[in-house]
Amino acid sequence: MSYSSSDLHEALKKYFGFDSFKDRQEEIVQSILTGHDTLVIMPTGGGKSLCYQLPAILSEGTAIIISPLIALMKNQVDSIRSYSGEDKIAHFLNSSLSKTQVREVKVDIVGGETKLLFVAPETLTKEENIAFFKSVPVSFVAVDEAHCISEWGHDFRPEYRRIREMIHGINDQIPVIALTATATPKVKSDIAKNLAMSNQNVFVSSFNRGNLYYEVRPKINKDQTIREIVQIIKKQPDESGIIYVQSRKSTEEISQVLQVNGIKSAPYHAGLDAKTRSRVQDNFLMEEIDVIVATIAFGMGIDKPDVRFVIHYNIPKSIENYYQETGRGGRDGLVGKCFAFYAYKDILRLEKFLKDKPLSERELSAQLMEEVVAYSETSQCRRKFLLHYFGEEFASENCNKNCDNCQRPKATQEVGTELRHAIGIVKELNQNYGIKFLVEYITGRNTQEMKNYKFDIKKSFGIGKEQGALFWHSLLRQSLLGNYLRKDIEQYGLIKVTPGGAEFLEKGGEFSISINHDYSKEGAADAVTSTAAKGGALDDTLFKILKDVRLSEAKKHGVKPWIVFMDPSLQDMATYYPTSMDDMLNISGVSKGKANRYAAPFIEEIKEYIEVNNIEKPTDFVMKQVADKSKAKVAIIQGIDRKIPLEDIATSSNMSLEELMDEMNIIVSSGTKLNINYYLEDQLDEDVIEEIYDYFGEADSESIEDAFAELKEEDITMDEIQLVRIKFLSDVVN
Ligand SMILES: [Zn+2]
Repeated sequence: MSYSSSDLHEALKKYFGFDSFKDRQEEIVQSILTGHDTLVIMPTGGGKSLCYQLPAILSEGTAIIISPLIALMKNQVDSIRSYSGEDKIAHFLNSSLSKTQVREVKVDIVGGETKLLFVAPETLTKEENIAFFKSVPVSFVAVDEAHCISEWGHDFRPEYRRIREMIHGINDQIPVIALTATATPKVKSDIAKNLAMSNQNVFVSSFNRGNLYYEVRPKINKDQTIREIVQIIKKQPDESGIIYVQSRKSTEEISQVLQVNGIKSAPYHAGLDAKTRSRVQDNFLMEEIDVIVATIAFGMGIDKPDVRFVIHYNIPKSIENYYQETGRGGRDGLVGKCFAFYAYKDILRLEKFLKDKPLSERELSAQLMEEVVAYSETSQCRRKFLLHYFGEEFASENCNKNCDNCQRPKATQEVGTELRHAIGIVKELNQNYGIKFLVEYITGRNTQEMKNYKFDIKKSFGIGKEQGALFWHSLLRQSLLGNYLRKDIEQYGLIKVTPGGAEFLEKGGEFSISINHDYSKEGAADAVTSTAAKGGALDDTLFKILKDVRLSEAKKHGVKPWIVFMDPSLQDMATYYPTSMDDMLNISGVSKGKANRYAAPFIEEIKEYIEVNNIEKPTDFVMKQVADKSKAKVAIIQGIDRKIPLEDIATSSNMSLEELMDEMNIIVSSGTKLNINYYLEDQLDEDVIEEIYDYFGEADSESIEDAFAELKEEDITMDEIQLVRIKFLSDVVN
């Protein structure tokens, strides 16, 4: 049946109280009313449910809406009943109903009063239900959250695969509507195929969330990351936010740190009982709690429009997850800031969880995670990347500098020649390989596979050895974004040449890419906070200025720069802007003695910098540690005072010797002396101690790795270096 536009507007006003349709809602409603199979891809908040609710009300018979979550079903039914004021208009049918209730629902359907019936896919599998639906007029079947059909989505549900079979059991002529809020091109084609849709009308809304700001920061180590998180939150006090983490333990740990720092926060994970969970949700909605630290279990069905920030402490396992979770920010159209902390190590940890899963699932997850890595490491506009992932073209100018990469572009490099090499190789290898293999080929990795195919004797094998794998990964990913190459989604991500790529190969041209930050190194610095880690300061400009100050102070005092202040201390200063001696004492690695000796010119410089640049200093920001942690530190310091062997201190603090040394490093790096002479004299040769000690007296950096590189020929071990370094820092630096 067809309706004129004014009929539809009238119905919209009558049943929902709206004056106008959003986006392409009207076309979608028309498509359903005229009996077409229809595929709707619309981001959350776009008005997806109205697309089937309105035609259901206007059509003869009952529409069957398949939905995965019982809790959501009830909400939907309640909201439709509230618009129409008529309870019989919508029902749900699932395992939570008693026999009598089921009978009542069926009576209303037979009586023609029920327009929408929500069912779980399990309900549809029951013979008796199929037989019942066969006997009543069904207007159409709507499959909500249709991405659950695809293994390539983020929420695969096997029972969704049987929906077509069930519709077949009822009546093949019934039109099918599939709706989802996220779908990559691959998932989209899976949905259409699985539901055996025919001549379907496809409506894809833009996935751009212009009001969301995206930023990815390197995750250097736990302490630093949590500190940055506290600071992000302190910059927008009393606002609502969500922090996503991977483990239950982290939800509790981080929430505790936030509480100690005066932030109203609570943990949320699937291990909590239902009562606690709903209390936390309510408190969040009522703003008794500002920040929820949650595993992914949080957020389904929660609609708080003014979530101002979403922070990923761990990078999620797919871009769909990331998009969904960040999508919970700024629903009201105002600012929503999305920060993700990324270390490649987190990806490796995700892979470890998959170890016991079947091969196909592992491969699939690996590909989804590869995209997450690419997103995190890209130097391109984040928004462009996300939208490209969902099959949408987007010009980065339209980002309005609302992502870190647009705001602070990274250095670029002209790579036209290299791009031609890459396209040439893709063609030469018959467009039969994925990115990983191509990079191995271009950089000439002599794997067994290369030998088997006799690829290692080809002329172009290893042509890009010099630039290294990181460069080629980056080039290939960015050439996908530039549409010179494309990933074949039907064929396991094999890389193909596009017409644009073929033309570039033939005629050449200019192509520049930004040079990626090497995130793999950040993870390596994890255990030792004192190792200088790049990118740790929030204000890079100030960080550079402070390094100059340090250099001139070092010259004045005749010492090496790092003896004045180590990099992490300068990073802290460039984050918290200390402008008094008291402030300085809160900076990690600044002891009282050190502050008196060196801090004055730094304070002057920071004061001036703040004034000239009109910077608002974070309000009295002092990061407080959770008591447990400082308790462990106190135990270590006391143990060493009492000259207890380190092995025994480790045992009584429940740590490995390695962890103990890391802790000790952190203690001395933050400005406390530890006198371990008793232990050194007992364990190490005097020559060895002297050698290492002298090395640090001359060295240009405090790095343990540098020391090891220099000293390993003398048969000196990492452990020995670590130990003597602790002595050196205690004697000389602190
Ligand atoms: Zn951007």
